[in-house]
Amino acid sequence: MAAALRALHAQLGIPESYGQDRGLSLQPEATQLVGVGLDISNREQKLSANTAVAWEALRTAAAADGVVLQLVSGFRSIEYQTSILRRKLLKGIPIHEILRSSAAPGYSEHHTGRAIDVTTPGSDPLEEQFERTPAYTWLLREAVKFGFSMSYPPGNLHGVVSEPWHWLHSGCGITASMNTQRKDSATDDTATEAISNRG
Ligand SMILES: [Zn+2]
Repeated sequence: MAAALRALHAQLGIPESYGQDRGLSLQPEATQLVGVGLDISNREQKLSANTAVAWEALRTAAAADGVVLQLVSGFRSIEYQTSILRRKLLKGIPIHEILRSSAAPGYSEHHTGRAIDVTTPGSDPLEEQFERTPAYTWLLREAVKFGFSMSYPPGNLHGVVSEPWHWLHSGCGITASMNTQRKDSATDDTATEAISNRG
């Protein structure tokens, strides 16, 4: 881990063994992002290019099935993640408690620009009640076709609370279902990019 990040973790009271203990990996901060419009709080959100395309395709397909998906959060910088933790610490919440629902700076999948938090009308954002919505049922069935998977299902081994709203995109430009629609535009370049984006 970079010295600056290690110092930041020490300052926040995050144990040095955090990543190892949780089985979590450092997440590279995305440098190339594209705007994907406003989230439910009217903040401009950004995602990596391939994920932005996949999110738009996911949202459109959901809408066609009568399911409204709304964005709560997309890209978050290490700096922004730090501000979230500092705010919670100021409220007097102990760091070990905070780390059950917020990733340590450097470890959030949102740093990559490939993670989205979603909600649907009638469900409070970032609450477990989302898993009782038709939107969640739809995502469980369809999201994989667009390259999205749930990172923290119930009972996950990362010491993270169940997050039915948090979905990570593979980063690949072409997924199985999109492949059929986009066959014409597929080039060797996009295939190479898809492979280099894995992991
Ligand atoms: Zn999330």
